[in-house]
Amino acid sequence: MEPNSKPSQTVVLHATLGVGHLIPMVELAKHFLRRGFAVIIALPTSPISTADILASSNPAVARIVAANPSISFHNLPPPDYSEPDHDDFQQMLDVIRLTAPILLTFLRSLPSIAAVVLDLFCVDALDAAAAVGVPAYFYFTSSAGVLAAFLHLPHYFDTTEGNLKDMGKSLLHFPGVPPIPASDMPRNVLDRADPIGASLVYHYRRMPEARGMLINTYEWLEARAVTALREGAYVLDRPTPPTVYCIGPLIVKGEDAAKGERHACLAWLDAQPERSVVFASFGSMGAVSAEQLKEIAHGLESSGHRFLWVVRSPPKDPAKFYLPRPEPDLGMLLPEGFLERTRDRGMVVKMWAPQVEVLRHAATGAFTTHCGWNSVLEAAAAGVPMLCWPQYAEQRLNKVLVVDGMQLGVVIDCYDEELVKAEEVAKKVRVVMESEEGKKLRERLTMAKKMAAEALTDDGPSCMAFAEFLKDLEHSK
Ligand code: UDP
Repeated sequence: MEPNSKPSQTVVLHATLGVGHLIPMVELAKHFLRRGFAVIIALPTSPISTADILASSNPAVARIVAANPSISFHNLPPPDYSEPDHDDFQQMLDVIRLTAPILLTFLRSLPSIAAVVLDLFCVDALDAAAAVGVPAYFYFTSSAGVLAAFLHLPHYFDTTEGNLKDMGKSLLHFPGVPPIPASDMPRNVLDRADPIGASLVYHYRRMPEARGMLINTYEWLEARAVTALREGAYVLDRPTPPTVYCIGPLIVKGEDAAKGERHACLAWLDAQPERSVVFASFGSMGAVSAEQLKEIAHGLESSGHRFLWVVRSPPKDPAKFYLPRPEPDLGMLLPEGFLERTRDRGMVVKMWAPQVEVLRHAATGAFTTHCGWNSVLEAAAAGVPMLCWPQYAEQRLNKVLVVDGMQLGVVIDCYDEELVKAEEVAKKVRVVMESEEGKKLRERLTMAKKMAAEALTDDGPSCMAFAEFLKDLEHSK
């Protein structure tokens, strides 16, 4: 875990908060490595165990670290901090903020740094980068549309009154994105009095101070949002918006998993007809209640379609869905006789499936997803239509983008209520797998897949954007 040495070309990536942020950061690190840079991924460490979902002790993080020996991961020492009454998310934001001076000490200890690339939640590290005279860029690991909406929020709050939580499904009109129902904005910004929301808005206000913003997307997918970001439509008081570089889709390559043993679900997929399987999985933390698991089971069963379903134990406390959970007891959680009855056309996987390979498999025909951005990108790049069932963070916004903007999926209705009924699950599976609407979606996905592949060719727009970024980095000296 020690920094590796290639002093004049070292890039420090400051990552945070969970697997969904770390995976694309690691992919970015590989991009730098391929171009001869040395890379250090600097991770904050929390003195409070509940806030430490990124700790090297977290099994998912440990797996990512172990799978990438060519990257130096550096655990920054924990700051002095104790606010046991704060919400876990607030604790994490506090810890990251208090880590900025620690990062500065670390940066000063390095002989020479080409750039610092920051995760969304690390705005205070801008000061550390400025103090050592190193250019700072953000790497936004969600969609360009979400970034456009987030960056507009400070202006929105400065120029309006009242709370989003009182607006129900009234539509918000932000530059570059389709109209967003107020209730689809992230939970923490719904109430101005929410201290976490205030902290997030502080982040969005400061992000444009960076020299540039890398985004894990490709232009074809989000042309409108990218244009709005380029024009700085969100920052009315800043003459020159930071340059935007769409460098995605940066996705874990299938061969990473191929190094290990092939997962049994891939062999199962091999035996299924082309485009016949509905894959259902809800991200690295997927939190579904016991009652909801049963409804999903009934829905998948009554749809009549084949399915591959990743099941996790329901969280003990739904508000703490991000804490590690034990393996699920399928016999207890799933309806009686379900596994028997669906044995010929369904497979249930506990905890984790090699999602990228599953999505790329010819047998996969649809993806029921929580709309985490990595999942959306992986589905778009694999050409698989989505059944959108957003759960937490910015996923409802991604749902709006996927369904209303990109037209790559359908919504599972009642996602914002306590329980989605089996009938809705079955209905939407049929819409995507059997209907004319599903056929149109697949056509659009075929294009999304083609454009994703093109974006990453040597002279494709995303590779060119990364080359432009490297040029900018060079000129910043
Ligand atoms: N993932 C996976 N297998 C699983 C669950 C998740 O490989 O069973 C990967 C998935 O491919 C994606 C990441 O974990 O790269 C999840 O990121 P996303 O942004 O979709 O959601 P988050 O976990 O951040 O909510």
